[in-house]
Amino acid sequence: MNDCLFCRIVKGEIPAKKVYEDAHTYAFEDINPQAPTHVLVIPKKHIRGLKEAQAEDVDAVGRCHLAAAEIARQRGIEDSYRTVLNVGPGAGQSVFHLHVHLIGGRNLHWPPG
Ligand code: 5GP
Ligand code: ZN
Repeated sequence: MNDCLFCRIVKGEIPAKKVYEDAHTYAFEDINPQAPTHVLVIPKKHIRGLKEAQAEDVDAVGRCHLAAAEIARQRGIEDSYRTVLNVGPGAGQSVFHLHVHLIGGRNLHWPPG
């Protein structure tokens, strides 16, 4: 989608610090990190959010999580991290291209705010 921020990052039209890419998945540093590791992992396919994901998107959504686990291993935080999908504005979703937040590198509290 031309007017989607994250689609434009995948296309290289908007700069981002890429940390991972494969045929289906793209990951980059969050511009406003909430922890020492705060990476956004997204499907290259535009999916508006988890709420809108369809059965055909199961592979794309699953790959995002496996990519997050791999990035966590690469950073040595594989025993203590969190993956988060904010769904809808009330839960904090502000970009409407599905993204998994990978957050780690500090103590993580529960329940989250
Ligand atoms: P959400 O609030 O939708 O769950 O997460 C969106 C995330 O995207 C936020 O953590 C925000 O900091 C990040 N973000 C917003 N605009 C940009 C940008 O232009 N570049 C990068 N790298 N991250 C962004
Ligand atoms: Zn998009």
